[in-house]
Amino acid sequence: MIGGWSVRSAPGALVLVIVLGVAGTTMAALALRHADEDRADRAGAQQTMLVQQVVSAEIRRYSTTLADLAAAVGSQAELESAEFTAITAPIDQERLPGATGVSLVVPATDAEIPAVQSYWRARGISGLTLAPAATGPDHRFIVLNRPIDGSSPMYGRDVRASPAATDAMTAARDAHAVAVSRAFRLLRDAQLPLREQQLSFALAAPVYATSPDAPDNGRFRGWLVMGLRGGNFLHQVIGTVARDTVAVTLYDPSLGRTTPVATWQPNVAADHSHPARTATVTVPQRAWELTVQPTVRLLPASARDLDRIAWLIGLVITALLAALIRTVSTARDRALKRVDEATVALRDDIHRREEVEHQLRQRESELVGFAGVIAHDLRSPLARITGYADFLRDEAGPRLDPVHRDFLERLYGGAERMRSLIDDLLDYATADNRELTTARVDLRDLAEDVLAERVGDSVEPTVVLDRLPVVEGDPTLLRQVLDNLIGNALKYIRNGADPYVRVAGADQSPDQWRIDVVDHGIGIPEEQRETVFTAFTRADGSAGYPGTGLGLAIVQRIVERHGGTVGVTANPGGGSRFWFTLPKAVHQLSPSATATSASS
Ligand code: ADP
Repeated sequence: MIGGWSVRSAPGALVLVIVLGVAGTTMAALALRHADEDRADRAGAQQTMLVQQVVSAEIRRYSTTLADLAAAVGSQAELESAEFTAITAPIDQERLPGATGVSLVVPATDAEIPAVQSYWRARGISGLTLAPAATGPDHRFIVLNRPIDGSSPMYGRDVRASPAATDAMTAARDAHAVAVSRAFRLLRDAQLPLREQQLSFALAAPVYATSPDAPDNGRFRGWLVMGLRGGNFLHQVIGTVARDTVAVTLYDPSLGRTTPVATWQPNVAADHSHPARTATVTVPQRAWELTVQPTVRLLPASARDLDRIAWLIGLVITALLAALIRTVSTARDRALKRVDEATVALRDDIHRREEVEHQLRQRESELVGFAGVIAHDLRSPLARITGYADFLRDEAGPRLDPVHRDFLERLYGGAERMRSLIDDLLDYATADNRELTTARVDLRDLAEDVLAERVGDSVEPTVVLDRLPVVEGDPTLLRQVLDNLIGNALKYIRNGADPYVRVAGADQSPDQWRIDVVDHGIGIPEEQRETVFTAFTRADGSAGYPGTGLGLAIVQRIVERHGGTVGVTANPGGGSRFWFTLPKAVHQLSPSATATSASS
């Protein structure tokens, strides 16, 4: 039972299937979504790590390149413009996305400007004019420059005009290593339209004279500075690894979160169901921050929609199951309805048959009654016929010629047969219609009585009387039963054999006695053992024996009216074994006796 519905009933099963189906489907879909989110989480974390590693590796590569160049520049005894051009030539081949170029920056105070200017003019930059910025007495001038972004070389500018680049140079000199500046707008970008200007970084590497032949061996010469446009850098570096799976924003913590340095935004929508991740990238002398936001391409579309697809499939299966149950239950209901209809029709049929049977019984009983009346009415004229025939036989018989005497004998015989038939018909009608007058009947007394009367009819028979019960019944009718059965046993004897009859009683069941009447006579063919109980039916082999075919029908009527049954089997030693049962009224048997004649 679920909530008062029996699951055996069709609506109960239907509701159960729908509830379980929807619940199961939802649970499966949720589990799939959970797994999906896990996968997206992992993919997001992986992609973030990849972006972080690539950015950090790229900056390291830029730094190493710059440091190598600085070492090469420092190793020159007397650095000429041509040498600088030769040393820095390989960076054209290096893939350095976002890099603007490399400059040699040298320090100079106000007083040193003319000397520095003429020194570098003599090194090959003939048109060099140092343009100090108004930031104080200390300046840092670009004296050599190799652009790699296609722009024209810039000489003579004072980098002090850019505090971010100045700070990075100071940090590099202090650390004797490459330093990355905070984000700023490049001096050279100042001429570009505003929307093309991007935030950039400067990478600065200190340059020390390392040639033993150099007059300034071991001293600080200046810096190699590389400009790096944040946007271009990020686009090329991230674009190749992240493609359209994530959007990346690069922040310089010193500028705060409001001003992103650069953004990689692929041309697909961001997937805001998964949060953006933040990663820190350590670059020389500082740290950058990256935020990585997954896009809808991070997981394949098929994987993302798995939960929805599973939910849909589950719902379709549930609906199909529900439809199946409905069909089955409808078919079952229809079948049950048909069974009900058939049952009603059957009952009607049985009822009709019972009515017909009842009517038939009534007709039969009327007919039997009618036959009884006719038989009764025929009795007195027949008595007169036999009386006069008898009288004629006695009086005129001796005077008649043999032919007429034979006629008279035939007339007498026919009348006698008719009397016997009328008697049997009357008995048959009586057995059917007479009210039962019950009393205690000792079947043994009854059997002795019958035998005493019957014994004169035939040759001395062998008679065995076993124990017989005392029963409750109609004495006259029960006498007729024994009389018919014993009479037949003594009548249907085999040619030349002595008549034999045994009457015995026994317990058939706790409520019934069984009485057997056994003979050694002609027997009854097996296939006729049932039909002999039908009125006017005689078995094969009984042709030479007188009879009307009514005796056993009378026996069956009487026994059945007493609540018993009747039948016949073959006697194992030859002959027949007729039996009938009667309800036990008195639970005791009379003592047995064996006799060779009816009197004994
Ligand atoms: P009937 O007046 O012919 O004896 P019953 O109704 O008494 O009529 O018997 C019906 C038939 O059953 C008989 O005609 C006979 O064929 C057969 N029958 C009855 N009793 C015996 C018996 N003891 N042995 C052999 N056949 C019998």
